[in-house]
Amino acid sequence: MDQSIATLFARIKAGNDARRADFGLAERRAALDRLADVVRRNEAAIVTALKADLGRPEAETILTDYLPVLQEITHARRHLRRWMRPRRVWPTLATFGASGRVEPQPRGTCLIIAPWNFPFQLALGPLVSCLAAGNAAILKPSELTPATSALVARIVTETFPPGLVAVVEGDKTVAEALLALPFDHIFFTGSPAVGRIVMAAAAKTLASVTLELGGKSPVIVGPDADLKQAADWITFGKFVNAGQTCIAPDHLYVHASVKDAFIAALRARIARAYGSGAASPHLTRIVSPSHAARLSALIADAVEKGALLPLASGQEGQSIGPHLIEHTTPDMRLLQEEIFGPILPIQPYTDTDAVIAAINAQDKPLALYIFDRDRSRVEEITRRTTSGTVGINLTLLHYTHLNLPFGGVNTSGIGAAHGEAGFRAFSHDRAVLRNRFLLLPLLFPPYGPRVMRLIGLVKRVLG
Ligand code: NAD
Repeated sequence: MDQSIATLFARIKAGNDARRADFGLAERRAALDRLADVVRRNEAAIVTALKADLGRPEAETILTDYLPVLQEITHARRHLRRWMRPRRVWPTLATFGASGRVEPQPRGTCLIIAPWNFPFQLALGPLVSCLAAGNAAILKPSELTPATSALVARIVTETFPPGLVAVVEGDKTVAEALLALPFDHIFFTGSPAVGRIVMAAAAKTLASVTLELGGKSPVIVGPDADLKQAADWITFGKFVNAGQTCIAPDHLYVHASVKDAFIAALRARIARAYGSGAASPHLTRIVSPSHAARLSALIADAVEKGALLPLASGQEGQSIGPHLIEHTTPDMRLLQEEIFGPILPIQPYTDTDAVIAAINAQDKPLALYIFDRDRSRVEEITRRTTSGTVGINLTLLHYTHLNLPFGGVNTSGIGAAHGEAGFRAFSHDRAVLRNRFLLLPLLFPPYGPRVMRLIGLVKRVLG
């Protein structure tokens, strides 16, 4: 075990224990205000870091990494008093004479592990919920986005006392050392494969976990879809951040009756957004040469197995332009692995039941998208499938709605984040029951005839 990590953990844990009683509403709001302030002052540095790590256009960084953190802070600050308030519960017949309440309590010392795809907001967003709930944290950003990781470390060190939040930079060996420590809660965002490792590590100390994972999120374009609307939203949802988005549409089912018109609309919309393909200044780069190689291998595998490409807009080093792929077969890797890149396989269908069966045969997706103006068809698909979230006639936007919980189911995630759901993820709902005038001692032993008569009465009332 790395001694410096163990020392850091001991300091955070001691800080947390010392603060337990007096990290109230005012202190939490002050911590959030300090964070908002430093994030605002570092707007240009955030844009520069994301440019270095992912070749991101400024607009995309502002929309997807910078604003979501500020929005999370503003929302938490505004609603924190209500979230923290103990909730009174009604007495039940058996507990008449006692008053009960549920008190959200900080979980304690938390570990936050972040991925590389939105490396700023997926590190600091969970930290907002963690602090709002009154916890201390160690945060480990992803090693694949080193400029953002260094920036997150600087921001945290500048903003918080060392006993409240610390950043540990590094790769999986650092994450493994952290996971060996007895954290109270682990909030992990990343792949399902590593999610399993995190949950196994948590089992050793019985730390609670929130796992924000990924998978293959399908999109269905139905026979009554507004094709222009579908092309707009799918172009944005699939190609923002070059498809390196956990809830990007992964693969697409389009009703055969509208397939040709839809592909034409999609190609036109993609051309308007990213006219020059891989060279477009509006396109984010693939994070690393090995991820770019993985994506070109996915395309090559599909071509080798007979796929057609109605759109293939090139590759320049680590930049891959949008690709649309038709004539797919189930043995193609594209249909087996999470794509996480700017490649969209398109499958025509005529039978909605078959699409529902195909979705239900996969791991439960993080998001399911349905484009159709026929509300009963949309409701039917929604009712007969399961997924972490559903977007109807839109993509991605549900992620930013802070009054909606965001999370997956089973392989796509456990627990939820954002807004109040994020606060609850980092809180333990403690039940408190106070005796006011309980008559229950009348039933305590010895169990003589009087007690037995009373039990008879209680049975008639409760049984
Ligand atoms: P990843 O699982 O490879 O890495 C995530 C983090 O885990 C990194 O900080 C990494 O250093 C660490 N890690 C890697 N190996 C580890 C190990 N053996 N033990 C402990 N920690 C380890 O994921 P990624 O490639 O950074 O991100 C892509 C994945 O994340 C995709 O599957 C995507 O769908 C998912 N994701 C989910 C969400 C969400 O909110 N649900 C958001 C973004 C990304």
